[in-house]
Amino acid sequence: SESGRAANHQRTGVSYEDIGGLDEELELVREMIELPLSEPELFTRLGVEPPKGVLLHGPPGTGKTLIAKAVANEVDAHFISVSGPEIVSKYKGDSEERLRETFAEARNEAPTVVFFDEIDSIGGKRDEGGDMEDRIVGQLLSLMDGLEGRGEVVVIGATNRVDDLDPALRRGGRFDREIEIGVPGEAGRREILDVHTRNMPLADDVDLDRVADRTYGFVGADLESLAKEAAMTALRRLRRGSGPEKPRSVGVGDGDRGEDEDEGDG
Ligand code: ATP
Repeated sequence: SESGRAANHQRTGVSYEDIGGLDEELELVREMIELPLSEPELFTRLGVEPPKGVLLHGPPGTGKTLIAKAVANEVDAHFISVSGPEIVSKYKGDSEERLRETFAEARNEAPTVVFFDEIDSIGGKRDEGGDMEDRIVGQLLSLMDGLEGRGEVVVIGATNRVDDLDPALRRGGRFDREIEIGVPGEAGRREILDVHTRNMPLADDVDLDRVADRTYGFVGADLESLAKEAAMTALRRLRRGSGPEKPRSVGVGDGDRGEDEDEGDG
């Protein structure tokens, strides 16, 4: 939509501080994205092609969009977000044109990060899609190939289903790196809780370590809702006029999550 496009012209306002956990993953993304955007001539001088993009894969709500927005914002790049399903269905018949427009805008406004959310819905395995899907993937591939040499436009793709992606999109020269953005471990959850309670007054008895311990399986989006729900509960209590008493705690049920947690990462 027009208003959607207008919004895309603004800076995202997301910073690295807003990302909890994912230090190593973010480092990998930054290596591939920041330099080509800020100093593309370095690559030219060394006679190597600057990276064109990275593919982020992992479960929903783990911070893939957040990373893309943060990188764009931190290097002061233009950010364009493209929804895979929207390109395929909403612009039916017009999808390739939309893709060309997107890349043209990216070039005009460079440096630009083009973010393709749910890219598997465009670049699904081609033999499974119809003619239309074939043409859309073909167009995307040729646009990405066309980025050659210039730098200043990078593509970040995101998918929950990396195995469904068209192998052509995964070959070298398209996405230079595939980075898994996984479900956070306890330390990651603790950092994410920090991010989402940063501006909240917490009661003395709120123990975020304990919350992190008891939220096995929660991803960033879940922890964000948890913090918001806790704030809403506190707000309700305040409005009911239960006096000067401060909100008591961020509640996590006494479920059996957490106890037998097997931490995947540090
Ligand atoms: P999807 O596949 O559904 O698009 P995603 O991985 O792109 O998921 P995000 O959109 O980045 O997920 O995350 C949704 C929201 O959850 C974010 O806006 C943020 O508030 C919160 N969130 C997710 N991951 C993190 C994280 N690592 N640190 C802080 N907040 C997070």
